[in-house]
Amino acid sequence: MTSARHPKVLFATSEAHPLIKTGGLADVSGALPSALHALGIDIKLLIPGYRAVLAKCRDMTPFATLANPFAPGEIHLMESRLPESGLPVLIVAYDAFYNRDGGPYQTGGGNDWPDNPQRFALLSYVAAWLGSRDNSSAWQPDIVHCNDWQTGLAPAYLRFWAGRKASSILTIHNLAYQGVFAADMVHALHLPPESFKLQGLEYYGHLSFLKAGLFYCDRITTVSPTYAREIQHETLGFGMQGLLHERRGVLSGIINGIDTQEWNPETDPHLAKAYSAQQLNDKALNKSALQHDIGLHLDAHAPLVAIVSRITYQKGSDTILGMMHDLVREGVQFVLLGSGDKELERAFRKLALNHPGRISINIGYDERLSHRIEAGADIFLMPSRFEPCGLNQMYSQRYGTPPVAHATGGLADTIVDATAENIASGRASGILFYDMHFHTAIAALRHAIHLYRHEPKVWRQLQIAGMAKDFSWQKSAQEYLQLYRSLNL
Ligand code: ADP
Repeated sequence: MTSARHPKVLFATSEAHPLIKTGGLADVSGALPSALHALGIDIKLLIPGYRAVLAKCRDMTPFATLANPFAPGEIHLMESRLPESGLPVLIVAYDAFYNRDGGPYQTGGGNDWPDNPQRFALLSYVAAWLGSRDNSSAWQPDIVHCNDWQTGLAPAYLRFWAGRKASSILTIHNLAYQGVFAADMVHALHLPPESFKLQGLEYYGHLSFLKAGLFYCDRITTVSPTYAREIQHETLGFGMQGLLHERRGVLSGIINGIDTQEWNPETDPHLAKAYSAQQLNDKALNKSALQHDIGLHLDAHAPLVAIVSRITYQKGSDTILGMMHDLVREGVQFVLLGSGDKELERAFRKLALNHPGRISINIGYDERLSHRIEAGADIFLMPSRFEPCGLNQMYSQRYGTPPVAHATGGLADTIVDATAENIASGRASGILFYDMHFHTAIAALRHAIHLYRHEPKVWRQLQIAGMAKDFSWQKSAQEYLQLYRSLNL
């Protein structure tokens, strides 16, 4: 719309920390717009007025009112701010859709809300309305930044809205969820019939919110450059690879940041002893405290390998089980924190029972323990089959716990492999393996254990290189800002 140097941005999302969270999307939606706001960008978050959001945002002021095209009554857009960052938040207050018990996507019993198409079409519609010339408020965004399928219809609504309008970006956080609904929703959600085709929002005879976004938006991003390439191919494209390949000219990857205050070994209140790259010897105290806490033998020399993750096929949990089985006889210790696949959980527990003091399995979600593991372990293990960005490999590098990981997605982009060349240049920060096979994964872990045991200088170098890296949101926010500017020239 305008050609201002700093475009105005609406960041539309279905969850944002600390208001409401079911997964990583909430972390990004809380942190990224806040980092852009701190850079002086005029940016507002748009989020549904779920019960939890209404409870947390007390000082709301009316921002705009518009008719609901899908149900009776009016939608009240209310403005508030995120508690810590002061980021402005626009809340879509429409009680019949959002103000109810249960989760944002599902009932308390774990079923999808039957009116999800209308609920997230409305969120998308309001985002598009704000980006259109019909927006009657005093604030008009130049860019509508959408996230995942829940806001995927916004670029479609914008495309068919008459008159001047904002540009749109769709960021993919999770390609596996695509918002696929029956074809008759096209009419019910006021989408033009001509959009229901292969070159449009049709997905094998159905309407896909995600495909709508990917097809009609001006730019597509995902959460790492390697993942942006991988999703153009069948193995990781979840059926969208053709369209993503076709649109590769507008597709890019920007790595997520991490909360560098919460994940800082120098100030972390959860640790037995805080430490820095200059006092790495203090990490040993965290190792003995961890071994004590989780029932491992107190052994300063045993390599302690850690996993904090959902227990799923995606995360390579089956491979991890085999690695534990083979390596525990070689004096290696393991700690796992996570939950997920029940059969794998049972198998991990059974293996631990046979190796008391050497394998510690902790089923559940435990924030404090996850910090103590990052600090106390020697090696962090992530043999994910795919990993759009991944966070733990960044935490572990900051904590001087070099990761061993499959070179996929964000893992490939944030870990520098310990090749002879990278060790010589001082850049190496972990160990990568390139084929997702059991023998390559275990060979990589064996290599890490060898370096830890027999090459202490090289190991120290990996630790120091990881701890020196900048994983802050400020860096990622600068990249998003460049993208915004490229759209707004
Ligand atoms: P994904 O979002 O695919 O599960 P990520 O690595 O991107 O994987 O993010 C997972 C986040 O959840 C990380 O911050 C990780 O430390 C945390 N996490 C996962 N499982 C647990 C657990 N059992 N206890 C504490 N934190 C966990």
